[in-house]
Amino acid sequence: MKYIGAHVSTSGGVENAPVNAHAIGATAFALFTKNEKQWRAAALTKKSIELFKERCEELGYSPKHILPHDSYLINLGHPEEEGLQKSRKAFLDEMQRCEQLGLDRLNFHPGSHLRQISEEVCLDRIAESLNWVLDQTKGVTAVIENTAGQGSNLGYTFEHLRHIIDKVEDKTRVGVCIDTAHTLAAGYDITTEEGFMHTFEEFDRIVGFTYLRGMHINDSKKALASRVDRHDSIGKGLMGLTLFKLLMNDPRFDDIPLILETPNDELWAEEIRYLYSL
Ligand SMILES: [Zn+2]
Ligand SMILES: [Zn+2]
Repeated sequence: MKYIGAHVSTSGGVENAPVNAHAIGATAFALFTKNEKQWRAAALTKKSIELFKERCEELGYSPKHILPHDSYLINLGHPEEEGLQKSRKAFLDEMQRCEQLGLDRLNFHPGSHLRQISEEVCLDRIAESLNWVLDQTKGVTAVIENTAGQGSNLGYTFEHLRHIIDKVEDKTRVGVCIDTAHTLAAGYDITTEEGFMHTFEEFDRIVGFTYLRGMHINDSKKALASRVDRHDSIGKGLMGLTLFKLLMNDPRFDDIPLILETPNDELWAEEIRYLYSL
């Protein structure tokens, strides 16, 4: 079975995320456990945590269908010591928030070399950051998202994801999330049946479906290999509909959170219904 949702608002507290997901007919959801544009955040209150867990249970959301996303400020491959330490501490805090909420995975963007270190050194650094954080946490998997490769962001090839996984000590707590818009922008043509099959064969060979912990289901405003990250609503961008039909009918994408990060939240309910209709 497919579990489809969107990255919903936590305005007023994390406990509102399951309510917002339920309101759009979602069977999965994503959220930020703190303000994604700030380094500091108040600790989650006991009340907030209890309500979040209660509502998830009441509305039928189990942890494996919830995909929290970390702050955009964090760079686990930061070339400078100060930025790296700050990022590692912030990521640890986010992993601990997930622990508190009873969540089992945290989605993050691998990191950027900022043109100061090589790709390889940066990827090694990301893996070291993960080892440092995983050592201090329990039960939460770090889920690496593939990127469009915009600017100096790494994670735009399956080989990058594999490089990081190879250097993570606890392989049971590292996973990946594939974003369809990022995949196209990074140069993998998933818009045709042939391209889709080939891309996911490559993915399986290089990374492996056993590591897949979630998907971001987005259309793209930008073309194949553009290396630009601009999401669009389903059916409104350059992706076409073949990809979404194939995804919805492929059991390799069962039982993981399939999350819309499409720009118009008023269309989410309709997009979810549409995806299920495929
Ligand atoms: Zn993301
Ligand atoms: Zn994404």
